[in-house]
Amino acid sequence: MQNYDAEEISVKHQDLTRYGDSIFKSVCPVCSTGILLMYRDQTHLQLLERDTCVACGQHVRYTDIEEVRSIDNGRVTGRSTALPATAKA
Ligand SMILES: [Zn+2]
Repeated sequence: MQNYDAEEISVKHQDLTRYGDSIFKSVCPVCSTGILLMYRDQTHLQLLERDTCVACGQHVRYTDIEEVRSIDNGRVTGRSTALPATAKA
């Protein structure tokens, strides 16, 4: 946890390397060995903007959290904002 007291950094979730086959977990950009798990709000299950590396303790803030949330919402509910033109009204 050598970076636990370090200043929070802003990162783009999209630019990080995904960990394994998860679409949310990322390899820590600071220590390159830890994982950013991406946490959820316990009440609304919304993905949280802030995360902490499980290995080095670095705090990060996702600058593109809204985009990640929209991907998550589409995945969970199966809804898409881009309906095909042939979809019935
Ligand atoms: Zn780390």
